[in-house]
Parts: sequence; C-alpha cells; structure tokens
Amino acid sequence: MSKRYTVTAALIYANGPIHIGHLAGCYVPADIYVRYLRAKGAEVAFVSGTDEHGVPITIRAKKEGLTPQAVVDKYYTQIKQSFADFGISFDVYSRTSLPVHHETSQAFFKTIYDKDGFVEETSEQYYDEVAQQFLADRYIIGTCPVCANPNAYGDQCERCGTALSPLELKEPHSTLSGSKPVLKSTKNWYLPLDRMQPEIDKYVGSHTEWKTNVFGQCQSWLKEGLRPRAMTRDLDWGIKVPLPDTDGKVLYVWFEAPIGYISATKDWLIQKNGTDAGWETWWKDQDTELVHFIGKDNIVFHCIIFPATLMAEGSYILPSNVPANEFMNLEGDKISTSRNWAVWLHEYLEELPGKQDVLRYVLTANAPETKDSEFTWKDFQTRNNSELVAIYGNFVNRAVVLTHKYCDGKVPARGELTEFDQETLASLADFPAKIAEAVENYRFREGLALLMDLARLGNKYLAETQPWQVIKTDAERVNTIMNIALQIAANLSIVSEPFLPFTAEKLQQQLGLNANDKGVWQSAGRADLLPDGAVIGEAFLLFEKIEDSVIEKQIQKLHDAKKMNELATKSVPALKPTVQFDDFSKLDLRIGTILEAEKVPKSDKLLKFLVDDGFEKRTILSGIAKHFTPEEMIGRQVTFIANLAPRKIMGQESNGMILMAEDRDGSLSLLQPHKEVWAGASIS
Ligand SMILES: [Zn+2]
Repeated sequence: MSKRYTVTAALIYANGPIHIGHLAGCYVPADIYVRYLRAKGAEVAFVSGTDEHGVPITIRAKKEGLTPQAVVDKYYTQIKQSFADFGISFDVYSRTSLPVHHETSQAFFKTIYDKDGFVEETSEQYYDEVAQQFLADRYIIGTCPVCANPNAYGDQCERCGTALSPLELKEPHSTLSGSKPVLKSTKNWYLPLDRMQPEIDKYVGSHTEWKTNVFGQCQSWLKEGLRPRAMTRDLDWGIKVPLPDTDGKVLYVWFEAPIGYISATKDWLIQKNGTDAGWETWWKDQDTELVHFIGKDNIVFHCIIFPATLMAEGSYILPSNVPANEFMNLEGDKISTSRNWAVWLHEYLEELPGKQDVLRYVLTANAPETKDSEFTWKDFQTRNNSELVAIYGNFVNRAVVLTHKYCDGKVPARGELTEFDQETLASLADFPAKIAEAVENYRFREGLALLMDLARLGNKYLAETQPWQVIKTDAERVNTIMNIALQIAANLSIVSEPFLPFTAEKLQQQLGLNANDKGVWQSAGRADLLPDGAVIGEAFLLFEKIEDSVIEKQIQKLHDAKKMNELATKSVPALKPTVQFDDFSKLDLRIGTILEAEKVPKSDKLLKFLVDDGFEKRTILSGIAKHFTPEEMIGRQVTFIANLAPRKIMGQESNGMILMAEDRDGSLSLLQPHKEVWAGASIS
C-alpha cells in the first residue's frame, strides 16, 4: 500500500439535492474506502465539493427564478449539510465558485496555453438567434448518433454515456427557446486529444486492473478514435478565459471542474493551516495515489479527458484508479430528478432519524458495482429487520447483556480453551485481512458481506456454547465464553467502522472500547482488544425493527411525488382554430336545474338527468358517473347546450349536453352560475 492517498468523490452540480443514486454510485463507496485507509494508518486527503458552473446551473436558475449565484449558494449549503449528517467524512467539502478555484483553473489553463498545448480554432457553432446566445453543452438537445436517444445533450448522451459535441447531434434544438439553431463562427481553444491519443492509449492500457466496466468503456472510446475537444465555451456563467480579448468566453466546465479537486485540496489546507503550503504533495508526489470515485456517466471525463489535461500541464500525477459504479434504480424505474423519482437524502435524514447506517448498509449491500442494481423500500425493511437487527444487533446485544448478567458487567478472564474456542479465534483472526482485501480492490459489497459473516460467527459461537445453560454448572467456563464473545464484538466494531460508522461508535461505547485511532485496523483480529476486568457499558439496541407502516408511507410518498410532478408538467390543451361570431351564436347555451338524477343500468359511466330548462323538462345523458353521484347532482344548476341534435346513447335519447371543465388531474368541475338564476337563462 502507498503511504499517501488523494481520494476524490464526484463534484456534483449545485443545482439540486442529493439522492440515493448519488450515494450508492459514488459517495458511500468513497467514504468506506477512505475510512478504511485512515483505520489502516494511511495519510488521506478526502476531497469533494459542488460544481457551480456549467449550463445545468443556469437552467435551474431560470426555472427557480433565481440568479445562478443564489442557486449554487442554496444547494451548496443543503448538500454539504446532508453529507455531514450522513457521515460522509470529507476532509473538505469545497465549491468551484471560490477564488482559489478560479485562480487554480486559470493558471492551469495558462500553463497549457503557454506550452502550446491547445489548438486555437475558429469554427462554426450552433447559435440561438432568439436567445442571442451560443448553445454549448446542455443548452442544446438532439438525437444521439450512437443510441438514438432523442434527448441527448450537446456534451454527452446520458443514456449511452457517449461524450458528444453539439455538431454530432441529429435534429438539434435549443433548450432556451426551442428554436432550430443556426451556425455562427466563433474562436475556441481545443485540447488535441487526437494528437495525444498514443499517450492516452498507453496510460489507460497500463491499467488493466481497473474495474471491467470502467476499462471496457475507455477501450471502446479509444477504439473509436479521440477527437479534439473545445476547452472553452461562449457563455457568461463560469470562469473567464485568462487570455486577452476573450470577453463572453469561459473555461469548459469539464475542463475546470476536475481541477476543482486540486483547488479543494488547497482550500482544505488553507482552512486547516491558513496557507495552502504542501498541496503539491497530494498532487505531484509519485508516492501519492490519486483515486477518483464517480458514477458511470463521468467515466470518460475522469479516465480520458482529465488525465489528458493533467498530461498536457505536465507536472501532475495521473489517476491510479477510477472505481466508477453503475447506476442504482428505484422501485423498478430509473432514478430521475426531473420526474422526482428519487429518495432524497435530506428528507431521509429527517423522516428516518438515526438510521444513517441502515441506508449505508442497504446501499452497499446492493451497490451497483458491476451492473445496475435496485433499491426498494421492501428490501430496505428486510435487510434491516432480518440482517442488521436479527444478526448484527442480536449478537452484540446478547454478548453485552449476558456479560452484565453473568460476569458483573466486566470482561472476564479466559480459562482453558476448547477446540471450538480455538477454531473460532482462528476464524476471527482471518476476517480483517479478508475484508481489507475486498475494500482495497473496491469490492465493498463483498467487504460488507464478510463483516456480517463475522457477526454470524459471534451468533454461532453463542448458540453452540450456550452460556445460559452452562452457567447452571460451570461459571468458569462461562467466563471464557463471554470473553471470546466480547472479543468478537470488539473486532466487529473496528471492521464495521468504514461501513457503519455510527454503529461502530455505539458498539464501542457499549464495550467501553476506544478504538478510533488512526491505524487501529492493525490491531483487528486480535483476541485481547478488551483487557480482563475492563468495565462494559450499558446494553442498548443498535438497530430497531422497521414496521410496515413506515415503509408503506415511503412508497406512497414516492408515488405521490411522481404524480404531482406529472401533473405539474402537464400543459393546457392547444387552442382550436378561430371561429367567427356567427358560428358561436349558432350554439344555444343555457342554464338548467337538475330535478332528477340516476345511474343508467349496465353503464358505469352514464348518468341520466331530468333537467328543468324553463320550457319543459328534458332528459340529458352525461358520461360523468365516475366523477359525481346522482345524489350530489340533484338540485344543482348546470350549463348545457340546448340545441344539440338529439343523440341515442345505450338505447336512451339525450337532448343536450352538460358542460364541464377538466382540471389538470383529469377531475371534472361543473360550470355553475355564481348566483342562482332562473332555469332556462340563456348564455351569451
Ligand atoms: Zn446515446
């Protein structure tokens, strides 16, 4: 193992809250890895932050009626807080709007520029004549040339992950005005990835140890051949290009955002020491390993484009690994921010307080490490109740409770060991190395499964040694049994810490163990973590059973949110063609009073009304039985068409038509006069 690690977790756009897909894809695995490295005694800088430039920010600002700065301030604060509450142990959670980031990115750009690392090119770019703006990245949408996704962005198709340029999109249109863009010439600076390809091929090719999903994606892009990519944009929100006469141009967000990891490191040191002195150790020292945790949609940027910019600059180390995960789906559907199909972290923390580790556990147990996976609330409940409560919690509780009961709440000394005791201790000693191997190879699901196996070992040990029976005849033997059970629990607390930090802390509190020191992992596996005679704390439950009602509420909430969202995005029906006044005046619209109402037999839609129209009583049929009961209609005044030709419906004649307004959600509303009028009143 290297002695020093710079670990980054994806810079998320500060344009919305965090959901479980982000957590499962990147932040939980990154946090497990970092906590493990610290426990192992390595030097780590764990950096992340919000990406506050780029088109998604300005689009969100427009939608919320705020300035881009107000949007990023709002979401930065919210995101930072929910990560902290969830126990993601960043050394720094920074943001790309900080001056240190602007300076770092501009200097980085300038260095490459001065080395002739860019190709300056005037080209035709799409321009929206209505909005009077060039259409970079997400300002333009069209059909993906690779997978035919009709909603591919100008910089990337989110369905197939391909990095695109706007010119590659078929049937492009502006997301600003919806108009078809025109081509207009503009000057930009390109990173000549085509020229750099041999070097990039060599770099990626030397990392056959990368996860197969990551390595495979890189290889397929390299095989297609890299093209020069513009590192500047014609936009007004972003970091100014540090060259003369470049008003209205900013650095491409995927050029400067990963540099955000570097400026975050500086930000961390400045916050800690008042100066960024020493930052280069984390970015330029060959003994430092750089590891990027991201979701699969960012693979191309972290494995090809960012390393290429680092190569072009020349003085940096390159990422040694990019353990990207695939996507996590939710209840049978893709997680979608725009459709509000997500479990939001800040809401989870509020609605299920104290259950951070349950979510960490479920997201890791189902982590989309090699293929897409799925989160369901039922599975969440099952994993909590039958794994965390029934296995982990049960073992710890028995060990602590029985120690209080039989051993006066103190760690008893071990006597002579049976063969089974020795086997159990030998097995215990093997666990930390097995878990370490899984974590070091980014197999966090496996690491977590092993951790649960250690809890199972504890349960099995107590079940087979039966201290509650033995106590009747042999108290000395019970001392040995409880000592071993407690040592297993103590080890469990150490190897749990990276995965379930809140639980590990509570467990250590019960055991009276203080094992949070850096390097504590080295002592894991030992059977003397708790010295003889040490006092054990009070027993309390580590996990609580989750009832059906809690789960049902969450599922209902999800469906309600989705429905609300669908309704909110619904637009009113298009207007019909213009008619002349004469056409309108042919219609005889009247107010009538409903005298009688009944269901039409054998029809679930039709109601039959007897309406007082001022002349006589007429029968009108109306297909509204799903919306109104006959009883609630009687006595109401309604608007109806009085001169519609009679129609036969289900064998009955209808003389007119009652008018209704259809609401957004499809429900119907009667059109009633605002005060009672005489039956037969005409409408004009
Ligand atoms: Zn595509």
